[in-house]
Amino acid sequence: MIELKNIKKVFQTKQGSLTAVKDINISIKDGEIYGIVGYSGAGKSTLVRMFNGLEMPTEGTVAIEGNVISQLQGKSLRKERQKIGMIFQHFNLLWSRTVEENVLFPLELAKIPKEEREAKAKELIGLVGLEGREKAYPSQLSGGQKQRVGIARALANDPTLLLCDEATSALDPQTTDEVLDLLLDINKRLNLTIVLITHEMHVIRKICDRVAVMDDGKIVEEGSVIDVFKKPQQDITKRFIRQDA
Ligand code: ATP
Ligand code: MG
Repeated sequence: MIELKNIKKVFQTKQGSLTAVKDINISIKDGEIYGIVGYSGAGKSTLVRMFNGLEMPTEGTVAIEGNVISQLQGKSLRKERQKIGMIFQHFNLLWSRTVEENVLFPLELAKIPKEEREAKAKELIGLVGLEGREKAYPSQLSGGQKQRVGIARALANDPTLLLCDEATSALDPQTTDEVLDLLLDINKRLNLTIVLITHEMHVIRKICDRVAVMDDGKIVEEGSVIDVFKKPQQDITKRFIRQDA
């Protein structure tokens, strides 16, 4: 169970203070795929980065399995963060390392013994369908394959939660579908909770159980994907659904 309570995030900038996220309350069940949709600047990345403490809320609490992430720092925060995987729009791979070495990296950080590490990397590379490409460098892979490496790496330390920040935005529609199918398969197989942000409603429709629509730092609509698509309440939600049609 993930619980965000009364979250607010204020950034101090040279131009003054900017409230990126406000009045956010979210509760996500284990194994759920929760989507957050919104236009650029709505505060999606800021919000998702608070799930693993990459940003700390100015007010409010983030609790994952009862652990209040937003009150941790230093070593204890890093330890909790290891249990949360994250994937990105531009993959954020280590470009001078092979596929295998990318997947091994978080296992090395977690000080997993060598043999165990190698067995785990092999298993993960198989899980994402990249066997045979272990020695390839990221630059030699397609976008979809790069994201598969990102997913394998994100799963290395057996996370209970996977955060996806526009993970398919750099991919063509067919590759997007393939990566979403993989995420859905992993969600089912591992009962992994997924929080996914996107500006594309078809991504939400394809894999999410529930969706929150964000506008100007707030959640303006939330519900099951079926209900929100059937009966959108807000104009912004209707616009997103129309764009997707
Ligand atoms: P996009 O779809 O373009 O990725 P987003 O919904 O992810 O947008 P955020 O990146 O969360 O939006 O940004 C929300 C607001 O917070 C923006 O106005 C942005 O400029 C501001 N912001 C984000 N990070 C910082 C920061 N580190 N310092 C100052 N302002 C920031
Ligand atoms: Mg963003």
